Amino acid sequence: MSITWDSFRRRPGATQCYNCNYFHHSSQYCDIKTRCLKCAQEHRTSDCPIKERIENPECINCKTKSHMANSKQCPKYPKTNPKKGNPIKNNTTQNKPNR
Ligand SMILES: [Zn+2]
Ligand SMILES: [Zn+2]
Ligand SMILES: [Zn+2]
Repeated sequence: MSITWDSFRRRPGATQCYNCNYFHHSSQYCDIKTRCLKCAQEHRTSDCPIKERIENPECINCKTKSHMANSKQCPKYPKTNPKKGNPIKNNTTQNKPNR
């Protein structure tokens, strides 16, 4: 009974602060001005008056259009997993009762 769920729960993505939307730190440790993903104003994205999806957003991290700063299309997006492959197979016996 010592299954390490941590290895499964580890997020493949990078740490991104949802206060300033820069990478490599979480909002807990953020002392940078709040920046909105959508309009780059000083509020959190969740407080943004723009609720709908933006067709051609400008990235606040790299100032390029057509993606947002939390997108993997962003050249600033940290590449945490350069190696491909090594798919984790689920080897546990699938004996769950089907409801
Ligand atoms: Zn931050
Ligand atoms: Zn906004
Ligand atoms: Zn970008």
